[in-house]
Amino acid sequence: MSRYAVGIDLGGTYIKSGVVDPEGCVVARGQVETAADQGKDEVVRRIVQSIQQAPELAGIDPGDVVGVGIGSPGPLDTKKGVIHFAPNLPGWTNLPLAELVEGDLRSALPLASPTAQPPQGGGRGDCGIPIFLENDANAAAYAESWVGAGKGSRAMILLTLGTGIGGGIVLDGEIWHGVADIAGEIGHVVINFDGPVCGCGRQGCLEAYASAPALVRRTEEGLEAGRSSVLRERLANADDEDKARLINDAAEEGDELAREMVQATARYLGIGIINYLNIFNPDTVVLSGGLAKAGPVFWDTLHRTVGTAPFEISREACRVVPAQLGDDTGVIGAAGCAWKRSEIST
Ligand SMILES: [Zn+2]
Repeated sequence: MSRYAVGIDLGGTYIKSGVVDPEGCVVARGQVETAADQGKDEVVRRIVQSIQQAPELAGIDPGDVVGVGIGSPGPLDTKKGVIHFAPNLPGWTNLPLAELVEGDLRSALPLASPTAQPPQGGGRGDCGIPIFLENDANAAAYAESWVGAGKGSRAMILLTLGTGIGGGIVLDGEIWHGVADIAGEIGHVVINFDGPVCGCGRQGCLEAYASAPALVRRTEEGLEAGRSSVLRERLANADDEDKARLINDAAEEGDELAREMVQATARYLGIGIINYLNIFNPDTVVLSGGLAKAGPVFWDTLHRTVGTAPFEISREACRVVPAQLGDDTGVIGAAGCAWKRSEIST
């Protein structure tokens, strides 16, 4: 009999859902708006509804769903299924999400787990279907290590390059959580203690140098200082979320200011990655998010910088590559965590 896990990717804007088989293939997808402004009860209701609808979307028997993984932002407790807080979800403080979802499912869902007892770390209730909570960046890292760019790796670091820099660490096929589920905050390694203030309040974090807003900020400072560039007009008319991509495009076209800024960003990132090489000796570093889609100006500089890492045997053992899974990453990772932690995965 075929078995499936349901993955829920809880974002500030959308709740994505998917039914995932034991090989990591998504056999059905759904998406609803998160509606965070309507309060946490409504968001929980939408998560439950997404879980309920998933088997029908996939054309499978609800009894074949072995577990549900929820990838969520925020520091959270994976064992208790509690979100400490979530920056994009107002009012979510110490929210027992797994328990709430499980409670609603218990009263409504015909799902039946093949396991008599939910395993440790899953939902503790008696609805029969374990609910697993995982940090979204960790879930993304697990997805890439399971069936993506890090498939087959023994030690993989994922960096998510966006508004901030997040990430996850997967060692011997297991997410490294640390003792309080906070491990993997690799955007906050300090690369210059006198550097610009980071969103976390400290100075000189990698995130303050190599995130998309940092690239945009430095470029706009260059324009304000009078540098000539095709970006003067393009950035003036662009939405904030498009600016980093426009800078990368201009760099590939040969614009001098853009090249300089993209290369600086790649160098900063490379310095951060060298730190990870020295600590973890990974075989794979995976980059996801907008900057990972940049062209050779970015990637060549990044590879050159990582090539200066101090231990030849370490740098030669490590690939630095773009992520592969795209929009499905969160759903695959959440479902993968359910497979892994329910110990039913084949
Ligand atoms: Zn920081």
